[in-house]
Amino acid sequence: MGLIQRLPPDVVNRMAAGEVLARPCNAIKELIENSLDAGATEIMVNVQNAGLKLLQVTDNGKGIEREDFDLVCERFATSKLHKFEDLMHMKTYGFRGEALASLSHVAKVNIVSKRAEDKCAYQGNFLDGKLIAPTKPSAGKTGTCITATDLFYNLPTRRNKMATHGEETKAIHDILVRFAIHRPDVSFALRQNQSSDFRTKGDGSFRDVVCNLLGRDLADTVVPLSLESTRLKFKFTGNISKPIASATAKLAQNRKSSRSFFSVFINGRSVRCDILKQPIDDVLQNRSLFCQFCSLHLEIDETRIDVNVHPTKSSVIFLEKEDIIDEIRNYFENFVSEIFGFEPREAVK
Ligand code: ADP
Ligand code: MG
Repeated sequence: MGLIQRLPPDVVNRMAAGEVLARPCNAIKELIENSLDAGATEIMVNVQNAGLKLLQVTDNGKGIEREDFDLVCERFATSKLHKFEDLMHMKTYGFRGEALASLSHVAKVNIVSKRAEDKCAYQGNFLDGKLIAPTKPSAGKTGTCITATDLFYNLPTRRNKMATHGEETKAIHDILVRFAIHRPDVSFALRQNQSSDFRTKGDGSFRDVVCNLLGRDLADTVVPLSLESTRLKFKFTGNISKPIASATAKLAQNRKSSRSFFSVFINGRSVRCDILKQPIDDVLQNRSLFCQFCSLHLEIDETRIDVNVHPTKSSVIFLEKEDIIDEIRNYFENFVSEIFGFEPREAVK
């Protein structure tokens, strides 16, 4: 007999789960995205011990059918993608059918869900991708509540590493702030360790959300950005606060008296994207400036990007990367000079 053997499915699934959900804040992001995909207008997140003890997301979205409970936590089972070609035109956050499966491989998962047309909610408990008992009728409002307990109970090293909760608590707060600012039309509430962190109204006012989360002083300096390229088929929009001198920003950061915010969404998806950050940074650095608030959105023809790069879907590949950077840099150069009156260092002399 040879030395090579197939890994048992549960080992494969647990390894994959560890990749999709490296940290509790990854699970929060996935669950919020599912809620948004389900059309929710209210999303409540409740965590204890930075999500390790309890991680719960409740929404008022369209709910999950009872018949779908059998598959909901199975890997690569999704209601959003049907054939490979659809990948080009995905309008939803999810499409890989991995999030709930992954969660059920690293935590104990309970789902309570009710569709508007059903008389009652149904609930089920899941472990390692499977329902552990038949679904049961339950009390509950229209929408879905997903609860994960004892996250990483079967990955002790990871659990211990996360035991210093401070950093993770902050990461969870930051993710929620990011979504709340991106979607002022949705009400987000965050509770950590049984006390309220924040709640946004969901009435569509971007300014109110920034005021509420980052303070009025900053919100008062925020102005909109907008650039459309017909050639490269993209629309670049966003909001940015009036830049301040980098030296002042550093002092404030050292005193921890300032909160800064930088986010990039591409076709509605929160991504880490240096391609959009770079031209902004170049322009600011060339003037020794720093922006405390910068929220960027790129809407681009889906055929010119690839979002299926990594299971976390946080990276994107662009077809015309250099050209996009150049157009945004030129636009932002002019913007900073014209709107804020800051000229580059070379030009000042
Ligand atoms: P994906 O989002 O890639 O489809 P997930 O594992 O995140 O995969 O979710 C699996 C399926 O469960 C989704 O396709 C959707 O049908 C359903 N689902 C998950 N969360 C919700 C929710 N909050 N409301 C309604 N349906 C949900
Ligand atoms: Mg999903």
